[in-house]
Amino acid sequence: MNLKGMSVSLLMFSSLLVMNVTNAQVKEEKINIVDRFADVQVLRYDIEGFDKLSLSQKKLVYYLAQAGLSGRDIIYDQNNAFNLEIRSCLEGIITNYKGDKTSDNWNDVVLYAKRVWFSNGIHHHYGMDKIEPTFPKEYFQILMKETESSLSREALSVMFDNSLDAKRKVKDAARDMVVASANNFYGEGVTQEMAEKFYASKTIKGDEHPVEIGLNSTLVLKDGKLVEEKWMSGGKYGIAIDQIIYWLKQATTVAENETQKASLLKLIEFYTTGDLKVWDEYAILWASSTKGDIDWINGFIETYGDALGRKGSYESIVQITDFEASKQMSVLAENVQWFEDHSAILPEHKKKNVKGVSYKVVQVASESGDASPATPIGVNLPNNNWIREEHGSKSVSLGNLIGAYGKAGGDEIVVEFANDEKEIELAKKYAGKASKMHTALHEVIGHASGQINKGVGQPAETLKNYASTLEEARADLVGLYYIMDPKLIELGLIPSKEVGVAEYDGYIRNGLLTQLQRLDLGKQVEEEHMQNRQIVAAWVFEKGMKDNVIEKIVRDGKTFYDIKDYDKLRILFGDLLREIQRITSEGDYQAGKNLVENYGVKVNQDIHKEVLKRVEPLNLAPYNGFVNPIFKVVKNEKNEIEDIVIENNQTFEEQMLYYGKMYHFLK
Ligand SMILES: [Zn+2]
Repeated sequence: MNLKGMSVSLLMFSSLLVMNVTNAQVKEEKINIVDRFADVQVLRYDIEGFDKLSLSQKKLVYYLAQAGLSGRDIIYDQNNAFNLEIRSCLEGIITNYKGDKTSDNWNDVVLYAKRVWFSNGIHHHYGMDKIEPTFPKEYFQILMKETESSLSREALSVMFDNSLDAKRKVKDAARDMVVASANNFYGEGVTQEMAEKFYASKTIKGDEHPVEIGLNSTLVLKDGKLVEEKWMSGGKYGIAIDQIIYWLKQATTVAENETQKASLLKLIEFYTTGDLKVWDEYAILWASSTKGDIDWINGFIETYGDALGRKGSYESIVQITDFEASKQMSVLAENVQWFEDHSAILPEHKKKNVKGVSYKVVQVASESGDASPATPIGVNLPNNNWIREEHGSKSVSLGNLIGAYGKAGGDEIVVEFANDEKEIELAKKYAGKASKMHTALHEVIGHASGQINKGVGQPAETLKNYASTLEEARADLVGLYYIMDPKLIELGLIPSKEVGVAEYDGYIRNGLLTQLQRLDLGKQVEEEHMQNRQIVAAWVFEKGMKDNVIEKIVRDGKTFYDIKDYDKLRILFGDLLREIQRITSEGDYQAGKNLVENYGVKVNQDIHKEVLKRVEPLNLAPYNGFVNPIFKVVKNEKNEIEDIVIENNQTFEEQMLYYGKMYHFLK
């Protein structure tokens, strides 16, 4: 699970880190903005202390980064069958075109290419709608001719014809979500019904240790029969996977300890065999490998890209522990049982032994695939539930990325949407801290909490397409419930209750107003994290109405929500948490569906219009992403690696062209 959706709400409060400095200093701090186009902003992050690592550790980071980048092409192909072809064509044009580079048309082609790079394909990375070229097809064809770049007729049609492959993932219960989705997880002619039946037949009833069925394959029709094309060495994506394996093997030679080495070897075995049982064995080893300073995520991980929630998008993150910040967070993990015992959920849904939650703040050293350029800011893995229950999970907060947001953000949005001076003041003072604390609670306590009743299936089976929204809501609610608890002050994690106040203000403001800025007018809320935040905010607003817990105020045609009673609001968060835990524990599909459909999906059009109007003059980038630092290998005369140093000066375009050349393994 990841916290991708959190990034924007975080951005809103982020400038708080540089709040008390002069404008000149703020400008100085903002130099980490690398590019700004369309609705995105690209930032640069630093890896502090990289030079203090041992040579062997530096090598490990480097090899893992190479492994991660080697699979970069996979995500493009997973997202859409024409992505790689279109990307190569665009890169050919941008690299080789010698003609007029001052025209609007040319700028629009470059803009389109940047948007494709940012989204790992031709669909918006978050909204999933196809990105429309703003230049004429004829102009593009001239560029292709002059640069000897080529594109199949189908790819050209998909690029320019709005009706084709319109949306990467369609989540709409009224449609055939497999057929309607433009992603490439299911082959030509495969329908949702066929896929669901196929995977239902693979599900072993009563299996207490189920694999993540369907995670690493494309489901295709061959001679009228459904078969899985596995993503493995010798199989689909084999050429890129062989490169990943090569670098992982290098990494085993410099592993920090035996567990780390064993898990790297298991990952290689998984990529070699495509066996999901091996993937689980790897996940167990990886989850228990907590001793090293270097860690990684590599594989087919999150299933958000697939409407049926089965297919894992390729992803890699290489991490270095941030020791100081992690110390504070380990306090939470040490007290996880206290939090479970005191939670608002029903006693029968509480875990008697909450297991092995590890929470770390890390520094990202390199990202690829699903995690790049747009990135999560927190990750909790592995995803397989029984492994989490029996062997624990690892939870990390990507500290240096959060820090980079902090340097790039602005507080304009808080000022615009906060109801009063007190709210603005608390946001300035505590929102950054509050957001970090909430993230930590969400990951460490939230996802680990609660148990499923005996005999009830995993949420993916029982709650189906509502499972991830409800899971995110559950974890968020645990965080909201506890951020107001004196226990956090007692543990020395936050200085005062005002941190909780700032979080409540920000959460309600975001869930009912500001997050709508990311949605086009007329659209419903589809993304899981956004749905979850709207459910939580809208539900407590409605349930608290009779006691005026949150007051809706309209002033000069602008809407504000003012929290009148924080203690009652906390109780309401607890009430909703208890209900969502019940839904999860009992697998109550109907109740889950009602909650999501009634509170999470629909948007009040007047409010939406108002939000967009208020946000417009602020010229904010709703989405953020990052370029990676580049590792340079320094060799001695015997051709041995003597040192690895960081170069961190590529522009976004330079980096994308560089990656496109260096790690282009798939056709
Ligand atoms: Zn989560």
